Order: sequence, then structure tokens, then C-alpha cells
Amino acid sequence: ATPTALLTGTGRGAQLGILIKGAEVLEDTRTVDTVVLDKTGTVTSGQLSVAAVTPVSRYSRDQVLDLAATVEQHSEHPIARAVAAATPHRFPVSGFVSAPGGGVRAHVADGMHSRSVVVGRTTWLSENGVRLDGGQLDALRRAQEGGVTTVLVAVDGALVGFVDLRDTVKDDAREAVARLRELGLRPMLLTGDNGPVARAVAAEAGIAAEDVVADVSPEGKVAVVRDLQDDGRVVAMVGDGVNDAAALAQADLGIAMGTGTDAAIEAADITLVRSDVGSVPTAIALSRRTLSIIK
Ligand code: ADP
Ligand code: MG
Repeated sequence: ATPTALLTGTGRGAQLGILIKGAEVLEDTRTVDTVVLDKTGTVTSGQLSVAAVTPVSRYSRDQVLDLAATVEQHSEHPIARAVAAATPHRFPVSGFVSAPGGGVRAHVADGMHSRSVVVGRTTWLSENGVRLDGGQLDALRRAQEGGVTTVLVAVDGALVGFVDLRDTVKDDAREAVARLRELGLRPMLLTGDNGPVARAVAAEAGIAAEDVVADVSPEGKVAVVRDLQDDGRVVAMVGDGVNDAAALAQADLGIAMGTGTDAAIEAADITLVRSDVGSVPTAIALSRRTLSIIK
């Protein structure tokens, strides 16, 4: 091989904000045929905002939000940052637990009482012994049909409210997806978020509805990548979260957003300093060009 060309490839990458961990990564990049994109923070900005808070019990809207923010202030998840930013009020808190791809929980001192507060998706609530009744599930489904990310808030084992959050698709997502197709690659969307919001984001980015996999846990993301590999595909996975790290490691090529968590960056082969999806097709095209110079 010609090490000079490989070094030129990695050097050119660095200029473009594409940090490649070792020249041999370029070889894997050449054969990739499927690009699995994480949704939140990869295809979307990850800068969410709270769109609505719906109380479903005797707790007021503000109480629901303040309790949720008290727990979420300790998480670095994009949902957590948005909830924490929506109110300045905090209660004393202890025993914080975070479940990547699920949610958070803690003990919150609300006046004289210490309450157990759980925030996250349905599966995380049920793991914490919170069951939703038929009416509550219907309300959740209705909220999600509107294409929003909805998290649930429970206090002492009972649902007290929903928090709806909105995210925006990155400006360059649609063009990046089109460029991936031009390179002969199949773009897919993979997320732990709900189906309707995932399909809405996919439609906006130009990803086919049948290439959307929603409601998956971090382990589920690994399984999706492995299933594609078992079908003979060579998979690049692009992500930013703690929840993406295992799937990034499983993929033939792992690509992390520069704004992503340390876990994602460590697991990946390539880091995109500018955190733009547009750098994904650029990175793949760059490595193909570099290797065609050598061969
Ligand atoms: P994505 O795959 O879109 O990056 P995650 O795997 O991080 O999403 O999360 C999947 C789902 O788990 C979220 O849509 C949310 O419902 C829930 N969740 C994860 N982390 C949190 C958190 N800190 N607070 C509330 N909900 C969370
Ligand atoms: Mg993400």
C-alpha cells in the first residue's frame, strides 16, 4: 500500500473536520453499503424545546414540570436539557439513576415528603412499577400522533403528566441523505423515540418509511445493526448518545457527532467535528477517493 496516500486522506479529512482514528479505518469505509442514522442529535438538532405539559392528576402543570426538571437536571440527554431549561424551580433531590434509552428517576423532597419521581418512556415507567390505564395510553398515543416526543412523569408509582417536546431536522439532513443515495448507500433511521415522530423526521429528511426503526432500546440498536450484517450488509452507524455507543462499536464503521457524548466518540472510528450530517457522505466519498488513488 501507499501510506502517503492514506495519510493524505486522513489529513484532508482533518481539514474538513472529519477525524479518522487510524488510516486503516478508510479501508472499512470503502465497502459500506448501509448507513444507519440515529435520530436525536444526528438527523435532528437535538436542541429540543418543551411544547406542552399535560397534567393528568391532582398535580398542576407547574408541579409536573418542576418535579421532572429536578430529576432531569442531572442527565445530559437532549430531552433532559430541554426539560431542565423549561423551569428554574428545583426541589432537593437524591438517589439519581439514569437508564440510557429509557429515562431517569430520583427521590425528590417535596415539602415534608420524599417522593419517587420517574421520567421517561413507557417501558422505563413499567420497569419502575408504573402502569398506564387504557385512557392514559390513548392520551399518549394521541399526543405522539402529532409527531412530538412525549415523556411521561410519574410520582410514587402513579402517572402525573406528559411532557411534549419538539426537535427540528438539521438544515443539511435532506441533502446529506440524497448524497448518500448518490453514493449507492441505503440510508436508514434508528431511534429510541416513538414511531410517528420517527416517521415524520424520516419524511422530512427523505428517508423511506420502510427504512425507519423506532422504539428501540440501546441493545435493540445493536441487534438492528447485527441483523443487517447477518443479511450481508456492511453497516456504518452514525450517532451521538450513550445509547448509541454499543451500536457504534458493533457497526463496521462507527461515526460519532463531535457534540456527542464521550462514550459515543470513544466507540466510533470517525468523529465529525462540526456535527453535521453532511460530513457523513463527505467522509465516505473521501475514503473511497483516497483508496482509489492507492489501487
Ligand atoms: P434516540 O434514539 O432518539 O437518540 P434515546 O435512545 O436516547 O433516543 O431515548 C429513547 C427514548 O427514551 C426517548 O425518546 C425518551 O422517551 C426516553 N428517554 C431517554 N432518556 C431520557 C431522559 N433523560 N428523560 C426522559 N426520557 C428519556
Ligand atoms: Mg441521539
